Amino acid sequence: MSARDDDLSLERLIASRLERWFSVSQRPLPWRKEYRPYHIWVSEVMLQQTRMEVVLQYFEKFVNRFPNITALANATLDDVLTAWSGLGYYRRARMLHQGAQMVRERFHSRLPRDLATLTSIPGIGRYTAGAIASVSFDLPHPIVDGNVARLLARIDGLYDALGTSALSTAEWSLAGRLVASSESPRAFNQAMMEVGALICRPSAPECPACPVRDLCVAYATNAVDLLPVKAPRAGVRTMQIPLYLIRDASGAILMRREVEGSLMSGIFHLPHGSRELLDAASLQVIASTSSLGVFRHTVTNRRIEFLVVSAGLATDSVSETAEEYVWIDPRHVPDIPHPSYVRKALEIAGLLKKPS
Ligand code: SF4
Repeated sequence: MSARDDDLSLERLIASRLERWFSVSQRPLPWRKEYRPYHIWVSEVMLQQTRMEVVLQYFEKFVNRFPNITALANATLDDVLTAWSGLGYYRRARMLHQGAQMVRERFHSRLPRDLATLTSIPGIGRYTAGAIASVSFDLPHPIVDGNVARLLARIDGLYDALGTSALSTAEWSLAGRLVASSESPRAFNQAMMEVGALICRPSAPECPACPVRDLCVAYATNAVDLLPVKAPRAGVRTMQIPLYLIRDASGAILMRREVEGSLMSGIFHLPHGSRELLDAASLQVIASTSSLGVFRHTVTNRRIEFLVVSAGLATDSVSETAEEYVWIDPRHVPDIPHPSYVRKALEIAGLLKKPS
């Protein structure tokens, strides 16, 4: 786009087409009712690495439980992690909680409007700051997430591979010029996210329904399937891990709380026979030779097959690390922070009901 003489008018045209499309085609998402900065912040953090359909199951429950920044900052980390249970990537919840505490202390529980100040808050990087500033405050700051990156690479015919700094620089610059040409940064940035998610999909994009089809380089040059150029894939690892259901006389199950590690700190797990997933000494157990059930779960580039197995403790192997281990009534698991695979295992074992 930069080599064309009519860059400015083309950028205005793209921006206005997308804004117009958004005004009639946007989805009615709960954080779009009032555009409260806190709601935009929570939704953006949830949407990092989690699909919209899943976020919609959690968002309203979360903001009802913690209705504003002060309430979130005053909550215990356990409460926040419990409300986050099942969304995965728990570091996001910890950073959101820390961020809320900083906003309470430094900014009287009001999110600042300025981009540099926003990025000084734990968990708020360039993208989230741009989203808060543009969507909450209608300020002309760019955003580039995965959906927007794909859309921009196609519109402008950018052939640098995903994940390269050349592509990132070109896309942030283009997004900046486009949002500066828009009438409403709030509408424009959300339009890019929305068209990227719903129309300019990774495969089989719906070009006939696209508001910028006649302005799109990839469409004009028959290169839609070639863009964006993919980075070489990291190898996917497959693993098989037994999850031990160890019960005491009252029916409580043994769980281990992750106390260190950036990935899952503070989260309760079922003991398992592998150190590859979480770094902790394996328990010495006497396990049943037959499993109660098997299910598959994906964590980043690992495809895991979990085997749910009844087991008993071999000697008193828990005593050495007693602080990490707790006996918990399986019916109380929904009230503590836990990853979604724990719930699946308990459902398979018949110790927890599936949500209706
Ligand atoms: S025309 Fe097709 S490839 Fe181009 S932006 Fe629209 S949906 Fe994406």
